[in-house]
Amino acid sequence: APTLLWLRQDLRLADNPALHAAGAGRVLPVFVLDDAAAGRWATGAAARWWLHHSLARLGAALAERGAPLLLLRGDARRVIPALAARTGAAAVHAGRHHAPWARARDAAVAGALQAEGRRLELHEGALLVEPERLRNGQGRPYAIYAPFARAVMALGEPAPPLPAPRRLNGIKPPEAGLKLDELGLLPRRAWAAAFPDFWTPGEAGAQARLRGFLEDAAGDYDRGRDIPGEDGTSRLSPHLHWGELSPRQVWHAAAPHSGPQGGRGTFLREILWREFSHHLLWHRPELPEQPLRRTYASFPYQPDRALLRAWQRGRTGYPIVDAGMRQLWRHGWMHNRVRMIAASLLVKQLLQPWWDGAAWFWDTLVDADLANNSANWQWVAGCGTDATPYFRIFNPVLQGRKFDSGGAYVRAFVPELARLPDRWLHEPWSAPAPVLREAGVVLGRDYPAPAVAPESGRARALAALRGMKAAE
Ligand code: FAD
Repeated sequence: APTLLWLRQDLRLADNPALHAAGAGRVLPVFVLDDAAAGRWATGAAARWWLHHSLARLGAALAERGAPLLLLRGDARRVIPALAARTGAAAVHAGRHHAPWARARDAAVAGALQAEGRRLELHEGALLVEPERLRNGQGRPYAIYAPFARAVMALGEPAPPLPAPRRLNGIKPPEAGLKLDELGLLPRRAWAAAFPDFWTPGEAGAQARLRGFLEDAAGDYDRGRDIPGEDGTSRLSPHLHWGELSPRQVWHAAAPHSGPQGGRGTFLREILWREFSHHLLWHRPELPEQPLRRTYASFPYQPDRALLRAWQRGRTGYPIVDAGMRQLWRHGWMHNRVRMIAASLLVKQLLQPWWDGAAWFWDTLVDADLANNSANWQWVAGCGTDATPYFRIFNPVLQGRKFDSGGAYVRAFVPELARLPDRWLHEPWSAPAPVLREAGVVLGRDYPAPAVAPESGRARALAALRGMKAAE
């Protein structure tokens, strides 16, 4: 009997255990655009752009090997069992998907298949270590990153990646399926126009990106990763999110030339932050919706549409934050250092709920990832298990001066400030009038005054924290 290969967030041929298992016999690869089961975590707009192009590449690669990809849309809880019945498939192979909604969906699919004598086989491969496998000394899941990372490292090298199959024995699908365009993944407006300048979705693009990073930037990653004006990080996040590359492949490519020290060692530890987020989400499925520290449920945020909108548009009046928010809009990605600064300003000085920021990221990041996005927002907002303490409030001016000292980043994304000298670039409101005049900047006209004045922003944030504590 044939098998179905149900591809979800493992859009690659190499090191794909589900493909390896299904490809041993006659196989029908299928992708189902399933917004129903995902509910409010349906793929956001920028990530849909990515998905469109990734599916195009994957479809071509599978067709070349003899097993064209069937594209369908609908509720996979019905679509997959129905397709299995029509093809007479004995088994459906898929890669594990750790989001809570996907777990529930997979359980439903498994049940429906089983009722007809078929089976769903889930394969590892999205993570280095499956969440059930690691426990701390008390037998509980890790809640703190450092011991978690040590435990993963102690497991040693992961198994070597699997090769891509050369040929597949595809079966004729029982229906024509949809054309890629009919999935409607591309945005109707042209806001993603600049994305292709920065990204090459798909497995080949992921491999090229990994090689390029290891050759050019990895050695200096310790320093370069904090400088948003340089190309110092790997930009592998969307490739990893869609599974165009497995973490095991990244490990094996990066590790041979490094001990735990040095740029590549630091880089591997970042990959472990991804693992940690996924473990958290697995063990604490409320992560996207509720603060892991329960006391923060009563945090006195002050929702304000105008402030949220100013932040979304990159018009807070804080240059490093505005540069980040505009980078996000233009490239569908933001540098990690700036994500931290921008998120911190939103939840602290501007007192906007972290979940509103997370929702904006969800829609605008090409790497939007339920585990990473939720865990990092909770980290910034001080309500995660291993979070930065709330009272540590990033100062966007000092952060800007430190990590964008030459101003390359701000000048690239906030061109109206480009002619301000470095000294004033990160706090234009403090610049003397002649300096502003010389640079051709009128605050409030060409560039906004700060949405909240620096001193009062900090004071408000700390007062809110006291308010929450008093309410306990
Ligand atoms: P590199 O520095 O090259 O790191 C390599 C890989 O390690 C990344 O691709 C990523 O998979 C992983 N990684 C690095 N830092 C983190 C981290 N802090 N947490 C988890 N994994 C990490 N990352 C996402 O993939 N999706 C998100 O939706 C997301 N939302 C975020 C929201 C906020 C508020 C913050 C502060 C961070 C968020 N991150 C998210 C984490 C991080 O910013 C990105 O993974 C990173 O910027 C991606 O760029 P890179 O691939 O060049 O990173």
